[in-house]
Amino acid sequence: MEAKNMKRRDFIKSGGLALSTFAIPFSIMDFFTESNKKNNMNNQQKFDAIIIGGSYAGLSAAMALGRSTRNTLVIDNGKPCNRQTPHSHNFLTQDGQTPKEIATLGKAQVAQYPTISFHDGLATKGTKTTDGFEVTTQSGKVFTSKKLIFATGIADEMPDIEGFAECWGISVIHCPYCHGYEYRKQKTALMANGETAFHMIPLIHNLTDQLIVLTQGKADFSEEQWQKIKAHKVEVIEKEITAVKHQKGHIEKVVFKDGTTLELDAMYAAIPFKQHTDIPQALGCEMTEQGYIQVDDFQKTNIAGVYACGDNATRMRSVANAVYQGSVAGAMLNGELSHEIF
Ligand SMILES: Cc1cc2nc3c(=O)[nH]c(=O)nc-3n(C[C@H](O)[C@H](O)[C@H](O)COP(=O)(O)OP(=O)(O)OC[C@H]3O[C@@H](n4cnc5c(N)ncnc54)[C@H](O)[C@@H]3O)c2cc1C
Repeated sequence: MEAKNMKRRDFIKSGGLALSTFAIPFSIMDFFTESNKKNNMNNQQKFDAIIIGGSYAGLSAAMALGRSTRNTLVIDNGKPCNRQTPHSHNFLTQDGQTPKEIATLGKAQVAQYPTISFHDGLATKGTKTTDGFEVTTQSGKVFTSKKLIFATGIADEMPDIEGFAECWGISVIHCPYCHGYEYRKQKTALMANGETAFHMIPLIHNLTDQLIVLTQGKADFSEEQWQKIKAHKVEVIEKEITAVKHQKGHIEKVVFKDGTTLELDAMYAAIPFKQHTDIPQALGCEMTEQGYIQVDDFQKTNIAGVYACGDNATRMRSVANAVYQGSVAGAMLNGELSHEIF
């Protein structure tokens, strides 16, 4: 272990891990990460693994690979899906931290392992080579590796409703486990229809009985679903929303097409998404009907040597699940390499 890395580890450990890491100015952490990156990038351009995406799933995979002494490059362009959320919840030990605090701590811990390198930038191309993969970045850098992990997340597609995007992750939310507790017992809308809406209604109703469903047009519920909705006094409004009025992302009311308004404290919304990158498809990775990268229980795709983890490969969208899947992908990749070499 280089002296530089030992010093950094001692520094982080001194005075308690969480406290000291959050107390370290970013510039110092950047220095450590930067020097670690430079040490590795100069000596090593062919990697055991390249991880595209360096948020929770990617960093978790990198942790497993760093601890397995695998030369690993993490390529990330710094746009995690939760970046607008003021506080992240429901991830043990980090409940209520900002998304950035969690990622910064994760990156600092991963950067302690000398075989991990980081590259800031967008991966734009990935091709199969005779003995692995080649990844090209937007800046024209080309890196090669034996194996590949996609931890690229997904991009939420904002509806064409004025003010919606500004409120996303603040008071317009997607998940009762992540943000529902903070809005419990408050006047809450659910912008969704059909089966998706009916799946969400009981979950939200558990947290607030002031629930109004906004179906954005004619409601699509079965007779049985209607009966339950009415029995629980959940109001359904079938009018179209044209605007979300807010103060710095905190919703005040929605405006309907007919000019009427509805005052609210929060609104859940089920919105579509797309993959951040089509590199997996270009390599031949199969996708699910819902648009996720198809993986098995070990995060393996159908393409040998290619793994996917986190939001890009699962409906179970949470930091905890991304960390879990990343850890599995890293371990499985290392297992595959170990057996190939042994
Ligand atoms: C608004 C919002 C709030 C949320 N709040 C919570 C919460 O409170 N608690 C909770 O548990 N979960 C929450 N979630 C879910 C959680 O944020 C995600 O499950 C988690 O971020 C998934 O991690 P990931 O690493 O798979 O993807 P992401 O965190 O989205 O990261 C993907 C990374 O890959 C990078 N990337 C993508 N393509 C490329 C490329 N081609 N080249 C280089 N880099 C690339 C991106 O820039 C990004 O850094 C929230 C989600 C949203 C949208």
